[in-house]
Amino acid sequence: MSCVFCGIASGEIPSQLLHQDEEIIAFRDISPRAPTHILIVPRKHIPSLNELDDEALMGHMVNVAGNLAQADGIRERGYRLVVNCGREGGQAVHHLHMHLLGGRQFSDEMG
Ligand code: AMP
Ligand code: ZN
Repeated sequence: MSCVFCGIASGEIPSQLLHQDEEIIAFRDISPRAPTHILIVPRKHIPSLNELDDEALMGHMVNVAGNLAQADGIRERGYRLVVNCGREGGQAVHHLHMHLLGGRQFSDEMG
């Protein structure tokens, strides 16, 4: 399997799946950096934000992130959505994904 998130989307690689629909899946990060750390991932293999040509897809990902924040009980306290892009953006998995992070206080330093 060359792409770990394609593997998770197809079910070949196990994950703690929280949401799935025709366009996207969401599952818990394997190495959580916060009490809530969920990845929202399009089923389609889009390498990064730089290759994204579907504005509606990103809107759907943000909407599902908000629902997942509600389900994990962090919506009112607040949370952070992060999309890393490219080498200097710190992107390690080259299949577009959005991090939903919450459940603790984050610093106001970005990165
Ligand atoms: P990024 O640095 O934005 O590319 O983030 C990639 C994220 O994917 C990291 O937070 C990893 O912990 C997470 N990750 C990698 N492999 C898996 C996996 N098999 N299941 C869940 N999360 C994963
Ligand atoms: Zn992929």
